[in-house]
Amino acid sequence: MNNPNINPDSKLPDVGLSIFAVMSQKASAANALNMAQGFPDFSPPQALQDSLKAHIDQGHHQYAPMSGLPRLQQKIAVKTKHCYGVDVDPVSEITLTAGATEALFAAITCIIRPGDEVVIFDPAYDSYAPVIRLSGGQPVHLAMRPPDYKPDWNTLRAALTPRTRLIIFNTPHNPCGSLLNRQDFAALEAIIAGRDIYLISDEVYEHIVFGNQQHLSMLQFPDLRQRAFVISSFGKTYHATGWKMGYCIAPPALTQQLRIIHQFVTFCVSTPVQHAIADQLDQHQHYDDLPLFYEQKRDHFRQAVTASRFKVLPCDGSYFQLLDYSAISDAPDTEYADQLIAEHGIAAIPISVFYADGTDHKVLRFCFAKDNDTLDRAGEILCAI
Ligand code: PMP
Ligand code: GLN
Repeated sequence: MNNPNINPDSKLPDVGLSIFAVMSQKASAANALNMAQGFPDFSPPQALQDSLKAHIDQGHHQYAPMSGLPRLQQKIAVKTKHCYGVDVDPVSEITLTAGATEALFAAITCIIRPGDEVVIFDPAYDSYAPVIRLSGGQPVHLAMRPPDYKPDWNTLRAALTPRTRLIIFNTPHNPCGSLLNRQDFAALEAIIAGRDIYLISDEVYEHIVFGNQQHLSMLQFPDLRQRAFVISSFGKTYHATGWKMGYCIAPPALTQQLRIIHQFVTFCVSTPVQHAIADQLDQHQHYDDLPLFYEQKRDHFRQAVTASRFKVLPCDGSYFQLLDYSAISDAPDTEYADQLIAEHGIAAIPISVFYADGTDHKVLRFCFAKDNDTLDRAGEILCAI
C-alpha cells in the first residue's frame, strides 16, 4: 500500500544511504569481492565465541544495567590502565553502547544545541555530520590532504569562533590510516586552552597501529581528557563488527549527560555479549598481538598489488589501505568504484564521499581485514587492470 499523504519531509533531505550500505549492496548484487565496507572475513577468537554460547546457556537473557555490566566496566578500566597508564572510574566514567555509532550519537546529541558549530576533519567518518545537523548544529569541515592526511593546526585555530562547541577527532583514522602524535595533541591543547570547547576522540582502531608507532589516546592528555568523550568499539578489536558493542569513556559530568541520551536510544546493550567480552578482556595478549596481526595483513595486501598501476598511500593504522588510481583513469572516484565492481568484480570505497565539498583525489579505500586468500585474489584482480 502506498499512501501519497504519508510522505514526511526528510530531516536530512540531502543525505542518502550510507556509502557502506551502498557499496556492500552493489558488491553483493554483482557477486564482487567486497573490500569496501570495513569488516573482517574471519571469525572472532574461538574462546570468545565459546564464552558467548556459555552465557546464553547460563540464561543471561535479560536487560543489563543501563550503563553496562559492572564486571565489564571494571575490566575496561583495567585494560585502559594496561594500555595507556591512566585511571578511569568504571562506575562514573565508562558507558557501554551499541557500537561506537551509538556512543558518537549520544555524545554529539548531549552536547550540541541549535547554532553550535562543530569542527570535523574531512575525509570524515560518515555519521558525524548528519548527527550534528540533527541536533541543529553546524558542521565546520576542515580538509586533510594526501599523502599524510593530518589536521592543519593553524587552519583549526583560524576556524574557531565563539560558537565552536565541539571538535571531533579520529585516530587511527578511517579512511586515511593516519595517526595523531604527541605534537598534534600538544598543538590541540594550546589551541583550545581557556576555551569552552568539548572534544570527541573516535579511537575505534586503537589496537591497529603499525611499525614503531604507538596509539596515543586522548585519555593520556589531562587537559584534553577533562572535556573529552573517548570512544572505542569491540567490533574492531575482536573481529566482531556484527556484535555492535562499543563504549565511551568520559569524565563523570559528561558521562551523566551521555547516559541521559543513551538510556532513551537503547537503554542498555546485549547482556550475553557483554559477559563474553568481560571473560576475554583480561587476556591482554589478544589486543597486544593485534598490531602485528594487522600489519602483516597490510603488508600482504601491499605486496599483492605491487605489480599493479595503483599507487599505495601511507597507512600507519586502521585496517584500510588507500590506493591512488590516477595513473589508470581520470574518472571521478565514485564512477571508478562502480566501474571496478561492474568490470573487474571488486568493491572499494570512494573517498570523495567523505569530503563535504566532494574533493576527489582519485583515491579508493580497500579493507585489508581479510584472509590472505582474499587479499591474494584482490591483488590478482588489481594487477590485471
Ligand atoms: N568510527 C569509525 C571511525 C569507524 O570506522 C566505525 C566503524 N567501522 C565506527 C565509528 C562505528 O563503529 P561500530 O561498528 O562499533 O558502531
Ligand atoms: N565503519 C565501517 C567502515 O568504515 C562500516 C560501518 C558501517 O557499515 N556503518 O567501513
